Amino acid sequence: MGDKYMEKDFLFASGDEVRNGSTTDVYFERTLRILREKGFDNVMVNAEFTPSSLPKNYKWSIFAGLREVLKLLEGKNVDVYSLREGTIFTERDFYGYKIPVMRIVGPYSEFIIYETPILGFLAFASGIATKAARIKKAAGDKLVLSFGARRNHPAIAPTISFYAYIGGADAVSCIKGAEILGIKPTGTMPHSLMIIFKATLGDHTKAWLAFDEVVDKNVPRIVLIDTFWDETEEALRAAELLKDRLWGIRLDTPGSRRGNFADIIREVKWKLKALGLDNVKIVVSGGLNEYSIKELSKVNVDAFGVGSAIANAPLVDFAMDISAVKVKDKWKPIAKRGKLSGIKQLYRCNKCKIDIVTLYDSDEPQCPICGGKMKPLLVKVMEKGKIIDGLESPEIVKNRIKEQLTNVEL
Ligand SMILES: [Zn+2]
Repeated sequence: MGDKYMEKDFLFASGDEVRNGSTTDVYFERTLRILREKGFDNVMVNAEFTPSSLPKNYKWSIFAGLREVLKLLEGKNVDVYSLREGTIFTERDFYGYKIPVMRIVGPYSEFIIYETPILGFLAFASGIATKAARIKKAAGDKLVLSFGARRNHPAIAPTISFYAYIGGADAVSCIKGAEILGIKPTGTMPHSLMIIFKATLGDHTKAWLAFDEVVDKNVPRIVLIDTFWDETEEALRAAELLKDRLWGIRLDTPGSRRGNFADIIREVKWKLKALGLDNVKIVVSGGLNEYSIKELSKVNVDAFGVGSAIANAPLVDFAMDISAVKVKDKWKPIAKRGKLSGIKQLYRCNKCKIDIVTLYDSDEPQCPICGGKMKPLLVKVMEKGKIIDGLESPEIVKNRIKEQLTNVEL
């Protein structure tokens, strides 16, 4: 083991290391050396990003991670054209052509070492945002809380929170993630709290009273009711102790004790209602995904806490390929086998919800279904390394995704 290994703190790259190219694949660094040596470092290229394939059973995905890409390329001599952050896309257009989601124009040497981190940013952020959107779609008007910070590397917990929130989560539990988003972190109570009170005082319900006594009054009182007794018994006891200060109860019943989780929730709701306590909200968590949430929505659960499904969301793979090279001041369409050459634009008919890929200099297409005007989707977001119009706020992107979600099915 060398000194570097011993000195290195946690095993993640700093922002500076990403910017200086340390996290890139070595063949890009070698290629850069060759280009410089042979005087090709100023050759202008158009590098296009296309989805490789969407995760299994996904009909659409959300384009996300643009914020990170722009932060990385800021100050470089490149122009960037891109879908807006949070745009829903399908893998192919109306005629089956792969769609471009972004393109970078500039001297290749200026961004060659960034292909690796850019693809990583887009794959990860799009994966998280898409899964959060799918879960929100399944949950409908019920709340979705992202509890996933513990299900991935802590260094990326803020990224998970950020893209979970814009994708559809109504709140996040991670303190740093919430801070970046400018929202309050949300949480309930862990089982450990009740264990300490039962072990020391012989009564875990005293933990609920302690929570009520100590925690800020503006934090909703959500009592975890599956630690020692039957869920219904604990729920009724919580209601008795906290009275109308009880905002809700959380069921995190372990898989080994679940039997029929939906029926457990029904029973708890029913028994609370029978005692006139139907204003107590029901929060459930533990191994939930878009499919189980769809099922549980029928039981009228008020909020879902989701961890692994969002934090370990399947990646949305993208590829970067050169599709045109500027030779003697003229753009020459050129691409490897299997890829489409030329500089392109993507058009969408907002009425028919279809896309058409065209060459950049061809005429604006008409919608092949309604004959109407189509809207270009790749917009210039960076000019000569300067971010155009600044970075969009999380709320703007979140609303963009929310609006589009009404038009798609899971
Ligand atoms: Zn149309």
